[in-house]
Amino acid sequence: MILHRDVVIIGGGISGLSCAWWLARKGIRTTILEQADRTGGLIHSTRKDGYVTDHAASMILNFNARVSQFIEQSGLQQHRIERNNISRRYILKGDALKQVPESLRGLLFSDLFSLKTRLQLLTEPFRSRTNSDSESVADFIRRRLGQEILDLAIDPYVSAVLASDPEQACARSVLPRLTALERQFGSISAGILLKKLIPGKRGLAQQAFSFNGGMRTLTEVLAENPLCEIQTSQQVMALEPARNGWRISSHSDTREQQILARQLILSTPAPVAARLLKPLQPELSRLLEQIRYAPIAQIHLGFDQAGLSPVMQGNGFLLPSSAKTPLRGSLFISNLIDQRAPAGKLLSSHFIGGAKQPDALLQSDDQLLDQTLAALNKLCGLKQNPEMTRINRHAQGLPLYHGRYHQLTQAIQQTAMTTNGLHLVANYLQGISIRDRILQASQVADQVSLQLSGQLSAASSHSLSLTQSCIKQP
Ligand SMILES: Cc1cc2nc3c(=O)[nH]c(=O)nc-3n(C[C@H](O)[C@H](O)[C@H](O)COP(=O)(O)OP(=O)(O)OC[C@H]3O[C@@H](n4cnc5c(N)ncnc54)[C@H](O)[C@@H]3O)c2cc1C
Repeated sequence: MILHRDVVIIGGGISGLSCAWWLARKGIRTTILEQADRTGGLIHSTRKDGYVTDHAASMILNFNARVSQFIEQSGLQQHRIERNNISRRYILKGDALKQVPESLRGLLFSDLFSLKTRLQLLTEPFRSRTNSDSESVADFIRRRLGQEILDLAIDPYVSAVLASDPEQACARSVLPRLTALERQFGSISAGILLKKLIPGKRGLAQQAFSFNGGMRTLTEVLAENPLCEIQTSQQVMALEPARNGWRISSHSDTREQQILARQLILSTPAPVAARLLKPLQPELSRLLEQIRYAPIAQIHLGFDQAGLSPVMQGNGFLLPSSAKTPLRGSLFISNLIDQRAPAGKLLSSHFIGGAKQPDALLQSDDQLLDQTLAALNKLCGLKQNPEMTRINRHAQGLPLYHGRYHQLTQAIQQTAMTTNGLHLVANYLQGISIRDRILQASQVADQVSLQLSGQLSAASSHSLSLTQSCIKQP
């Protein structure tokens, strides 16, 4: 049997689910085909021994009004937990963790950065600008803010949070807001200042939050969308162009099915999209094949709070790629978000892997645990063993925005646009964060709605003219 649907979304991660939500707001029905036995993709949470651990994302950082609207109107607001207002972040200087001052003033007067770097920050508006689209993060930061800012602040963020390599990462794709400030205002610091002064330019104050029960609540609430039919354990195997849209072949353990859809949204990782599109769109497939991913292991540990050092009572720390440990960073989750650990306990999450450790996942759980505990012992003076351990492995953790990534994603989007009824929404385009996923999904929903209404009005005028010609028949 062949099913007929207006819009089919392949992949039920946050990108696909958000797209279905934005389309439902326009009254458009969707069908999600998801190969796993649950929706959420990378996002999932598990309760173990009273600890709630997130399998990938643990928090949303937002400064965009459209994302706030999404959270409020999707019913997620009531589940929201704000991040606690502690601000004790640490970075590695030499062999020791140092607390990062909270304000820019504090930063300028601290001894974290040398006098030369502090003067460089003050003279940043007078540096020359470039229009290069392919400059690396490392070159961009060195040019504007100096080597020390790169080593102490930006490298740890790019290596730990994005699992990337600052020497290879494309500045325009990885630091879109900073590079846009240079393009618009000629300088990062002048841009930040002017944005604060120009009415209407100031964005929302940054919010950081999670949800009761963990991040899985985000995707579970979105999966309750009444205008979205969700088919889990349904792996899409092939796509074919069909009259007025697409023929989508998928199968589960028990059945095979075909759907004819007017609009198709591909919301899978890039290698899956490349494979599905290869027979029909070889050029697009070739571009998608160029996207590489970094492996990430996330090691969740539960500790007794008694006797933990001040560092482990803070937010966490990020380590530069030059640090002599495979650990890239640690978050002390239950200090930041309530209800994640039993009373008197600490839930911590630690990251190993990334672009510079491609073999990280070849290690056993015991090895990953030993490396994490050795680093915590050295950096935070940790003496106790964890009372809870849980390890999540992501072989394709995050897409690496490396090389001429800006040009690559532009080429991907332009090529996809030439195919009517095909849309890509996924974390290899326009940002990996959940905030960026929700925003890209909103843009794609607008395009789908426009194309669908064109198709539906063409179909209704076609059937009207058929009816009229039938009426005219003697
Ligand atoms: C360790 C880690 C920590 C992170 N922390 C944060 C954080 O704190 N905050 C933040 O904002 N972001 C964070 N992120 C990033 C964020 O979680 C991801 O970018 C985002 O969840 C990706 O969502 P997605 O829907 O694009 O992709 P995915 O979640 O990968 O979803 C793709 C879906 O497609 C399905 N699929 C694949 N092939 C097929 C097929 N043939 N047929 C049907 N279905 C298919 C998959 O099963 C999957 O469900 C983190 C990521 C990682 C890895």
